[in-house]
Amino acid sequence: MFDREPHPANPAPPAPSFPWPGGARCVLFPGFDVDAESVWIGMDQRNVDRLVTMSYGGYEARVGVPKILKLLARHEVKATFFITGWTIMAHPAMCEAILAHGHEVAHHGYLHLRPEPGQEDVMVEEVDRGFDAMMRVLGVKPKGYRAPSGESSTGLLQLLTDRGIQYSSSWRDDIRPYRHVLPNGPGPIEIPVNYSFDDWNFGMTHRSGSRALFGREEVLSIWRDEFDQMREWGGVTTMIMHPQVTGRPMRYRILDEFLTYVRRYDDVWLATGQEIAAHYERCERDCQAAE
Ligand SMILES: [Zn+2]
Repeated sequence: MFDREPHPANPAPPAPSFPWPGGARCVLFPGFDVDAESVWIGMDQRNVDRLVTMSYGGYEARVGVPKILKLLARHEVKATFFITGWTIMAHPAMCEAILAHGHEVAHHGYLHLRPEPGQEDVMVEEVDRGFDAMMRVLGVKPKGYRAPSGESSTGLLQLLTDRGIQYSSSWRDDIRPYRHVLPNGPGPIEIPVNYSFDDWNFGMTHRSGSRALFGREEVLSIWRDEFDQMREWGGVTTMIMHPQVTGRPMRYRILDEFLTYVRRYDDVWLATGQEIAAHYERCERDCQAAE
């Protein structure tokens, strides 16, 4: 343990400052993690028979996702929905509706199992089953990936590269996209997340993890301040929202107000993960990074 040579855990250099399209100053990347019941199974396999525990996730197909799709249409916002394979197979109509509204669907594992180093076999099956469900049910080969419970490793990045994943949105170490560096060459583009925009932190309370919820003023205050400073810095505000959290009435209103707030500015590029990754690839070829 003590004999290990200290080194930065991430060998990729800091993100280049490529210009945003259309003279935009910053980016808002609305991302939803559609875990449905799988997040509860991923936490504890025995939950599969605990039907009230499962019903937290079941809220997404019944109420959360349909409400959020209407909200996004009203604000004319296209988002990326990271969906587990289990969810796609259990709720195909919900996932087809997401596609029909013109949103991007992306990979979020199969059973929402956190990718753990040392458990390579499980990791490969989790990733491959996710791809399989997405292709079989939706006919989609996803370009984007967000790790269930937000963990990653060199082995996972290599696996995603081998499977044709263009971008990941899981890491927390930058404010703009960058490209991962793997032992054998380049890896996927990373669109780092802003953990302050993970609604689970503010809006989920349940019987085995009960705690007070955060109210509208607290959450909006955090989100506005994060967004305003990111706008000054010219970075990407990546949101991690869950329809079983943000699809609840009070939290839905917070998202509604936040999108209204962002829409006041005309210099914000609202983009899906795929659009951001495609722009990054164009810039890698053609752009000079600004100082
Ligand atoms: Zn998730």
